[in-house]
Amino acid sequence: MTTVDLGALRDHLRPVAAALRERALAVDTDPGALHALLDSGVLPYRQLGGFPPGYLDDPLRVRGVPVLVRTCVERAVVAETLAWGDASVVVGAPGPSMSGVVVDDLADDEQRDRFYRHVAQPRTWTFFGLTEPDRGSDAAALETAVVAGGVLRGHKKYVGNVARASLGVVFARHRPGPLGVGVYLVDTARPGFDAAPLVTTGMRAVQLGEVRLRDVPLRPEDTLGRHLSPSRRGLLGAVRTFNRLRPVVAALAVGVTQAALDYVRTERSSFTADERGLLETFDDRLHAARALVLQAARGADADPADGTLPAAAKATALDLADEVTRTVPALLGPGARWEHPYLDKLVRDVPGLEMMEGTRTVQRLTLAQGWLQGRARHAELV
Ligand SMILES: Cc1cc2nc3c(=O)[nH]c(=O)nc-3n(C[C@H](O)[C@H](O)[C@H](O)COP(=O)(O)OP(=O)(O)OC[C@H]3O[C@@H](n4cnc5c(N)ncnc54)[C@H](O)[C@@H]3O)c2cc1C
Repeated sequence: MTTVDLGALRDHLRPVAAALRERALAVDTDPGALHALLDSGVLPYRQLGGFPPGYLDDPLRVRGVPVLVRTCVERAVVAETLAWGDASVVVGAPGPSMSGVVVDDLADDEQRDRFYRHVAQPRTWTFFGLTEPDRGSDAAALETAVVAGGVLRGHKKYVGNVARASLGVVFARHRPGPLGVGVYLVDTARPGFDAAPLVTTGMRAVQLGEVRLRDVPLRPEDTLGRHLSPSRRGLLGAVRTFNRLRPVVAALAVGVTQAALDYVRTERSSFTADERGLLETFDDRLHAARALVLQAARGADADPADGTLPAAAKATALDLADEVTRTVPALLGPGARWEHPYLDKLVRDVPGLEMMEGTRTVQRLTLAQGWLQGRARHAELV
């Protein structure tokens, strides 16, 4: 249970979201403009990064209370509020990001300190290397491996921030079987680490990239979870991480949906009765999706091993984001996406959110399993 005043946190971050919105099209046109945004100081990315106590001199303070943004609930509220301005910058900002969550779950004290001390330096990006060109949703079948001599060999694709990251985690197989996948903490300056950005149409500030791992040397201390049992480390251990990340991606979708609805109301002052009814239905569904996302985030904080509600939240939020961003441009007339580039950006960002942390199809499979196992009665909401 969080003690942070979530309403105050939202209010505190609204001006930041507005500043992101002002710069969203510049970053969308040229993801390199993210540097100018960071230079401007409008985004307190270090304070929002989720550092454990002791790594930042100046944690975020909301009404005088320090907020570390370490719980899934806090992360979800931050993500939703800022995504109203630019969801891609939330994911593309420097900081611990997704690797921080896996480090929190799997690392020992020494590894955690190595990671956070490094990432506490300004403008330090991290990466989370799981997806492969032929292995996305089916992460258990990944082919990147630790081969003879203890080196990493393989190919990761669609990895956020990887071409500008200096540290991150790589999922790789060290032996066959479900317990045979390890998670390794890897410095990108090591020989054989060869990363490059990809061109994407949405979520462009994330600067998705691919990385070829050509016999990247590993040290024993790089293996995350070396102090844990085999079922708590590796891919199985990281399931807890995914369950805590999904409500955050769902929250980004809620923020984008709110942005789309607000945008159309700003650009058009009067609507027909049918249009008003449509928008009000979207408002109601957004209200419900927001509540479900918060409930999923609370659930993930309480029991990160249960992914049922996070899957429900992600599927629900993405259903709505997809429908709203497909529907509202028509309310602004033919050519709306051309004439309203910010709305067009929202439309293009949603498929990126759909893929992050698994598509709705995959979430529904998780949800069905949870339901069959008698978990999360709230799954009825979906
Ligand atoms: C903005 C963004 C940021 C990302 N960041 C990262 C990152 O930092 N690190 C990282 O490792 N990856 C990252 N990804 C990759 C993301 O995790 C993958 O795109 C996602 O897991 C899906 O994998 P895939 O693209 O290979 O698609 P696939 O898994 O090949 O899926 C393709 C299609 O098949 C469907 N499908 C898959 N499995 C099933 C099934 N069992 N039954 C029915 N249908 C199925 C899916 O719904 C989808 O429609 C990111 C992606 C995006 C867009």
